[in-house]
Amino acid sequence: MKHVFCDVCKKEISDPIPARTIFTMREYDLCESCHDDLEAATKSTVRSKNPFDFAWYDTMCVELVQDGVKKNRIPVSK
Ligand SMILES: [Zn+2]
Repeated sequence: MKHVFCDVCKKEISDPIPARTIFTMREYDLCESCHDDLEAATKSTVRSKNPFDFAWYDTMCVELVQDGVKKNRIPVSK
């Protein structure tokens, strides 16, 4: 059986199901809880950004994931 690890929290993703328990962002694999953190982290910024630009959104997500890889978690600003 293939073992998949979340690139952010480094935990093993047991039973990886694409878009359900494992989320791929560029070359990174994210577990469900880290993906939730990523969504939470982008939410407030997306609201303030008008008009919405997908290229900009994609860049922001990748930067958040890269930061999360270093810190072992996605930084969610509250
Ligand atoms: Zn994770």
